[in-house]
Amino acid sequence: MQSIDKFNFAGKKAFVRVDFNVPLDENFNITDDTRMRAALPTLKKILGDGGSIIIGSHLGRPKGVTDKYSLKHILPHLSELLGVDVQFANDCVGEEAAVKAAALQPGEVLLLENLRFHAEEEGKPRGLAEDASDEEKKAAKAALKVSQKEFTKTLASYADCYVNDAFGTAHRAHASTALIAEYFDGDHKMFGYLMEKEVKAVERVLNDIKRPFTAIMGGSKVSTKIEIIENLLTKVDNLIIAGGMTYTFTKALGGKIGQSICEDDKLDLALDLIKKAKENGVNLVLATDAKIGDSFSNDANTQIVKVNEIPDGWEGLDIGPESEKAFAEVIKSSKTILWNGPTGVFEFDNFTHGSRAVGEAIAEATRNGAFSLVGGGDSVACVNKFGLADKVSYVSTGGGALLEAIEGKVLPGIAAIQK
Ligand code: AMP
Repeated sequence: MQSIDKFNFAGKKAFVRVDFNVPLDENFNITDDTRMRAALPTLKKILGDGGSIIIGSHLGRPKGVTDKYSLKHILPHLSELLGVDVQFANDCVGEEAAVKAAALQPGEVLLLENLRFHAEEEGKPRGLAEDASDEEKKAAKAALKVSQKEFTKTLASYADCYVNDAFGTAHRAHASTALIAEYFDGDHKMFGYLMEKEVKAVERVLNDIKRPFTAIMGGSKVSTKIEIIENLLTKVDNLIIAGGMTYTFTKALGGKIGQSICEDDKLDLALDLIKKAKENGVNLVLATDAKIGDSFSNDANTQIVKVNEIPDGWEGLDIGPESEKAFAEVIKSSKTILWNGPTGVFEFDNFTHGSRAVGEAIAEATRNGAFSLVGGGDSVACVNKFGLADKVSYVSTGGGALLEAIEGKVLPGIAAIQK
C-alpha cells in the first residue's frame, strides 16, 4: 500500500477527499474548525512537495443545490489556514471545475463545491414520489448507477493520485470516498495522515490490545449501540455501561427507575447482554447510584439515590458518587480504554460530574501508560468541554465511522485504498 509520507507529490495533482463538514452558525461563520485543522498535515505535505490539490468534501445533508450547504462559506478560512489563496469551482463537475483543475500549478489549491449537491455522490436516487412503485424505484436506481460512474470518473480525471483523509465518511461507499479509488493503481492512492492515525488507533483497540481492556459505553440509548456492545463483549475485560441506557438495564433487572429514559422493548436484550457478558467472563459494570432530577432540566431539584430506587416523578440524569468511584477504579487499572458516550446529560452543567470523573480517570490511566481512544460525537464534546483532549491518547474525528469500525465492520473508504 502506498503511504503519503513516502509519496513525492512534486508536479502531481492530488484529489484529496476531506471531511470539511464543519458546523456553521446562521451567518455562515464556522463555529468549530477542528475537522479543517485535522486535514492540514496532509494538505501541507502535498503543497510542500510541490504538488497541487483538488479538494472534495461534503457539507451537511443537502438534497440538491442549497446555498446553506455551499462550501464557498468555508473558502476564506481555508485560505487562511493554508496560507494560500484557494480557488473555488461552483460545481464539482462540469466545465468550470475541469478547466480550473487542468490549469492548477504546483502549490495551488482548488476547492470543489459540495459533492453532495449531486445525488451521484451518495448513489441514492432523489425526488422520487412517495408512492413510487418498486419498478420506478428500481429504474431510478439503475439510471443513477450509470450517471454515478460518469460522475466518479470525472472527479478522478482531475488528478494523478487520490488521497482519502475523510475518516468521518469512511463507512460510506460513496463516489468520492470509495468508488473513485478504482481509477487509481495501488501506487497512486493512499490514506492521508489523519486517516492513517484513525486507522491505527482503531487497530490498536481491536487487534493490539494491552490488558485489561475497558470500554465505557454511555449515551442515551442501548438500541443504537447493540452491535458495538456485542462485539466488545468478545474483546474487553471490563464493560462499563453508563448514560441513559443504564435505566433499561436497571428496569430489566427489576429496579424502580421513575421517569428515567428507558427502552421498554429492549429489556430482554439488556438481560441477554448481561448473560453474554457472564458467558464471556466480562466484568459488566453498571451504575449503583444515580443523580436524579425532578424534571429534565439543569435547574431540576436533585438527589442521590440507589439506581434501582428512583421515585416516581424523578429521573436519572447522571451517575452518583459511588458509581463514579467504582468506574474510576476500573478505568485506572486498565491498559487499553475506549470511551463512547457521556455518563449523563452532560449538556446540563449540573449533570456533568460523572462524565468529568470518567474523563479524568481516563486521563490518569493514560498518564500511567494506558492507550485511550475517545470517539463518537458526544464523548468528544465531553473531553473538549473538560479540557482533557490532549490528555487522552487519541480523540477520533469519526462518529458513525468509528462506531462501525469498532463493530468490526470493514469500512468501504478504508477497503478501497487497501485493496
Ligand atoms: P448518544 O448520541 O447515544 O451517544 O447519546 C448522547 C446523549 O445522551 C447526550 O445528549 C446526553 O444528554 C444523553 N444522555 C446521557 N445520559 C442520559 C440520561 N440519563 N437521560 C437522558 N439522556 C441522557
